[in-house]
Formats: sequence, structure tokens, C-alpha cells
Amino acid sequence: MDAPAPREETLDPEDWGETEALSQQIVADAVRYLRTLRERKPWQAMPATVRNIFAEPVPHGPSSLPDVYRSVTENLMPYPMGNIHPRFWSWYMGSSNFTGALADFLAAVQGSNLGGGNHAAALLDQQVVGWCKQMLGFPASASGTLESGGSMANFIGLTVARNVKAGVDVREQGVAAIPQKLRFYASDQVHSCHRKAMEALGLGNQALRRIPSDADLRIDIKALRLAIAEDRANGLRPACIIGTAGTVNSGAIDDLPGLAAVAAEEDLWLHVDGCIGALIAIAPDNGRLVAGIERADSIALDPHKWLHAPFEVGCALIRDPGAHHGTFAVTPEYLEQSPRGLAAAPWLHEYSLQTTRAFRALKVWMSIKEHGIDKFGRMIDQNIAQAHFLSDLIDAEPSLERLTPTSINIVCFSVRAEGGDPAVTKAINVEIMLRLQEEGIAMLSDTTIRGRHCLRVAIANHRTRREDLSLLVREIVRLQKSVSEAR
Ligand SMILES: *Cc1c(COP(=O)(O)O)cnc(C)c1O
Repeated sequence: MDAPAPREETLDPEDWGETEALSQQIVADAVRYLRTLRERKPWQAMPATVRNIFAEPVPHGPSSLPDVYRSVTENLMPYPMGNIHPRFWSWYMGSSNFTGALADFLAAVQGSNLGGGNHAAALLDQQVVGWCKQMLGFPASASGTLESGGSMANFIGLTVARNVKAGVDVREQGVAAIPQKLRFYASDQVHSCHRKAMEALGLGNQALRRIPSDADLRIDIKALRLAIAEDRANGLRPACIIGTAGTVNSGAIDDLPGLAAVAAEEDLWLHVDGCIGALIAIAPDNGRLVAGIERADSIALDPHKWLHAPFEVGCALIRDPGAHHGTFAVTPEYLEQSPRGLAAAPWLHEYSLQTTRAFRALKVWMSIKEHGIDKFGRMIDQNIAQAHFLSDLIDAEPSLERLTPTSINIVCFSVRAEGGDPAVTKAINVEIMLRLQEEGIAMLSDTTIRGRHCLRVAIANHRTRREDLSLLVREIVRLQKSVSEAR
């Protein structure tokens, strides 16, 4: 007698009709969520009941999908970070878009692994990389990889730079075999991800020499030249200049042609961190600000910032595809190419650290196809114009003081506290920032530049209107009065 067939389980629903109905409900709810976004607060604190949901232990048994979804609508959706809201200007991130969200859904449904292979998603991934090159005027012969974000894109560029400039086979022998200590250079405004990269690359934080920035917070090229000469004289090996196109503190754009000239003279790798500003290249009014970026050896850019792709997607571009491939390619016996079929294509995992890679290209591809890059360029100009509008409002307000030049879409300012005591000024700034959050008015963040505490507004947001910025200034002035009076 045959043994009874084992019961075989699947994750597919028992009733596809019910699944379709619930899916339609989820899409309808999502559309309403975005349509009514402006009516809600950017952010609100979570009650304990909600916090407790996220402390529950792993469930062993099932729940119905409608119940699971209800928990999401009640406990998750009302408590977002807020960065999709028109009045969110904290740190630096994009504000997402619905087409991108649909794309993420479809990418998950289609399910391809972008480690590579001979399938449509892999071609689409490389097409998006190609579009990034085209937008920046980078050569078509360059290679590139879509990464989780700007931090990883920068890491990819710096890794290639290290391996090319080490003077030994770092992959085989490791950093200990590098005969002369390598030096990388960046301005004192460089993003913190570069420090993490230097540490992870085994070069150490000290190998990243911070060059003073000038009055406009751009790298001081004279000081850079002196530092390179001094390091050579001391037996170190200058290897790489990291230029920044749009610093995170103030949006300053380093003199990219000037850095390219130094890199060429000194035979150094030029990496440009363009996570904020590389895409300004497509903006008709401001594109000239990043002229010269195409001369870099490697560039990091961040479609999940000014292209508003849902997280995560960054992009690293490397001028020399051989150096890029030579840094990351490992072809184990189980990942050899075959003459025909699915494995008859170059592996995309040979250009970065990941093996399995997300299908993150589709959200960029669909929204670029839908809108065209001309519109994205105009919206970058729009954000920059809004930042200048806000700067003018602040300059016209006697109780406020702007602290950095507004070159792109970041505005740094402070209250003028009575007596001008820095500690009092900071305390009032912070209190205003927190009340703006807690009252659900607007989200901004803070920083300290050259010892002065600033409130900081970064407008990488396609939903922001000028009226939102006018409201912000009015509310800051109101809060400043009530905070100062209470002190
Ligand atoms: C945002 C940012 C990064 C890091 O990018 P992530 O996408 O957050 O990983 C690096 N450099 C600059 C200048 C940035 O603004």
C-alpha cells in the first residue's frame, strides 16, 4: 500500500478572490493616505498601546490577513517618520512617490534577484545605471551599481580608490601589506559615512585628512595642496580626494573643476560624494553649480533623495569598469556563467558586496518613465528657489539670523537670543525645534557649524509649497516669543 501523500504547505492564499478584494482595499487606503497627507501632522508620538504591539513575541500560529492588515493601519500607518509630508525638512531625504511605491510592490511580486542573470529586471537595472551616467554627463563606458543608499555608494567608490592606489594587491594581501600609509582628503564638512568607510576599509579614521573649508564652507584648495605636499614629504601616500557636491550641513558644493585639476596634477583618485547635489546636473537653472562632476573617477548619488524614490536606492558610478570589477568580482564554482539560458549574462554582484540584490531599479525606472527627467530637474530648481524664498523671509525677520550662505536647498539659521549667549541661543533653538515637532507643525533638524548652533531646513520635497515655508517662519516667531518669555 502507498503511504499517504504528505500534506504540502504553501504561502499562497487558499482563496485568491479574498486576496484580491483585500489588495484592492489596501491600494484604495494607500491612495487616500497620500491624498489626505497634508491634513495630518508630519509626526506624532506613539502611545504605550502602540509601543506594546511592537514588543510582542514571535507568533507561532496564524492570524487572518485582514487582522494583520488592521494592526498595520492602526499601529503603523498613523506613526510615520514623516518624511513624505510637505512640511518635513529634517536631515536630508526624499519624500517618496506613489508610482515608486507601486513599483516596489511589482518588483516584489515579480521577485527577481538582481545578483544578475539573463532576465528583464537585470537589463532594467543596468538601464537605470546608464540613465544615471547620462544625467551626470558621465561616460557610457563607465560601470555602476545600484546600492542601498549613498553611504554604500560612497563605500563602493572609496574601496575601488583604495585598491587602485594601494600599490599592492590589497585583495590578496590585505591592508597590512600597503607599504606607505594611504591618505584620503576631504573637507571638514564631509559626511560621516566616509569615516565609517575608512574604518571599514581598514585604513582608519586618521587616514582621512580633513581639510579646512572656506567662508562658503567649500574645501580650501590651497590648504588641500599644502596638505598633500606635507604628507608626501612625511612618507605618506596621497591616494584620493573626496569632493562633496552638496554638503550635509549647509549644501556647499566644492570647486569640482579645481579638485579635478589637483587630482590630475597629483595623480590622485577623485571621488565625488554627490548624494545631495549630483542630480542638480539635470536642473536647468542650477545645473552649472555641479559642472565638473563628470571629471571624477567615481561618483556616489542618491536617487532616494532628489528623485524621491522610496528607500532604498543609491548609485555608485566608476569611470574605469575594469578597476570596479577587479575590486569586487569573485566567481565561485556555483556562479559561473553558462553559454545559454539564465546564467548567460554578466553577474551584477561582481560590482559590489552583496550577492542577492534587491530589484530597486524599478521604482526609479517607472517614475522617470512617467515624468521624464526634465520634470525632476525643474523640481530640483523649485526646491532651490524655495530655499532662497525661505532665506529671504528669515533675513527679513529681525529675531532670526541666517548662519550660512544658501547655495542650494539647505537653510541654516538661528534665533537671536537676548544677550547673544550661545548656550541660551541653542536652548531656545532646540526648544522651538521640538515644539514644532510635537505640535505637528513642521519637522526640521539642527546642526552646529563652526561652533554655532543652527536650525536647519533641507527642502528635498516635491510636496512643499511656499506657503508651508511662510507658515514655518510665522510659527517659529510665535514659539520664540513664548519660549523666551517662559525663560
Ligand atoms: C545622505 C548623504 C549620504 C548618505 O547617504 P544615505 O543614502 O543616507 O546612505 C552621504 N553623503 C551625503 C552628502 C549625504 O547627504
